[in-house]
Amino acid sequence: MGRLAATISIGDELLAGETLDSNARLLARRLGNVGWRVVRHRVVGDDQSEIAAQIRDAASAVELVLVTGGLGPTADDVTREALAEVLDESLVPDAEAEQVLRAFFAGRGYRMPESNLRQIMRPTSARMLANHRGTAPGIAARVGDAMVFLLPGPPHELTPMFDDSVATELSAVPGARTRVVRAFGMGESAAAERIASLMSRESEPLVGTTVSGSVLSARIRARLDETTDRQLDAIGEQVRDAWAPYVFGKDEDTLECALGRLLDDRSLTLASAESCSGGLVGWMVTRIAGSSGWYRGGWITYENQRKHEDLGVPLDTLDRQGAVSRATAEAMACGARERAGADLGVSTTGIAGPGGGNDEKPVGTVWIAVADAEGVSARRFVFPGDRSAVRDRTAKAALQLVRFRVLGLDAPLLWEEPS
Ligand code: AMP
Ligand code: MG
Repeated sequence: MGRLAATISIGDELLAGETLDSNARLLARRLGNVGWRVVRHRVVGDDQSEIAAQIRDAASAVELVLVTGGLGPTADDVTREALAEVLDESLVPDAEAEQVLRAFFAGRGYRMPESNLRQIMRPTSARMLANHRGTAPGIAARVGDAMVFLLPGPPHELTPMFDDSVATELSAVPGARTRVVRAFGMGESAAAERIASLMSRESEPLVGTTVSGSVLSARIRARLDETTDRQLDAIGEQVRDAWAPYVFGKDEDTLECALGRLLDDRSLTLASAESCSGGLVGWMVTRIAGSSGWYRGGWITYENQRKHEDLGVPLDTLDRQGAVSRATAEAMACGARERAGADLGVSTTGIAGPGGGNDEKPVGTVWIAVADAEGVSARRFVFPGDRSAVRDRTAKAALQLVRFRVLGLDAPLLWEEPS
């Protein structure tokens, strides 16, 4: 069935509704990917005895307890004290953690506030987990039969600590086995139909689909210890075949990192010219470390004059066909490609809404063009959703179309209209 886990999120601000408990979601998704099933999320205030009670309770119910928050240097951060209470141990300073913390402040030329020394304390039987993004190390301990991890609250510290320390320990545990296949450009029901024979609730491994941010995922999960890695891989292959050419990657892959790998492999470069997506394409690709190797840069040409002066879109085209048209999209993609000296140019121009639509070009109408040495072609979409959904879908469709172009693939994308 997969092994069972619980999360406990700590902080008065979470209870008060000032901060949304996004850590529970972040951890549950990641745990799911490595085959653990989260059966409980709890939110607790900054109260030592309440935290202790929740850790005790979770540790008696499941094998893995992930606690986030309350590891800071201030008096309201009492998670480590709560764990010491549960273990009936005292808190001792961790010599290595102290060295790391002192070096952290010395390296920045700051005097270390004494209050920070609280962060190097751990219950005697516990271990520290390095924090490469902040000052609070994590703590790992065993409570009865359960593994308990105390992790920092800020998501940008939590994520790398989970990925670097916790996930590696968990994947060494047998039974934690999942494969994920990721795709973009197909509707969920069409996608499910294509793999219907694999999706019965009794199947082993279990196959399920989800959509998040328009990205479709098939999650293939081994519930039985007898299921081999090879069987999981084989089912993954079947899903890939059934969903081709929409599949861009696996596990934690995103469209932009899949595209980056592809362009890198083929030594190709990309430039972008964006109107309605307002730089989202550029933002997505530059999130990836190393994207400077294949992304030349881009333009956000919002008004017509910019499309003309910066990208060379003829004024005549803008006048006669309009900014939201095949001809404009194609001229933008070619202009970006040529002016940036890139192998590929991609452009977006459309009506993100909520205003600006008409019968001929309803809100959500977007043209996306891709240019390369062979020529240029544009496709028309009508994306559903509000302004931010339209923009997000535009950027993702643009990345997928570049991928198709490089691979010589073709297939209609979801929300594409005949043009
Ligand atoms: P703490 O480790 O309790 O000092 O938390 C520091 C900061 O991390 C908080 O102010 C929040 O901004 C953030 N944080 C803590 N817990 C969560 C959570 N469960 N979800 C999202 N953000 C959190
Ligand atoms: Mg806190």
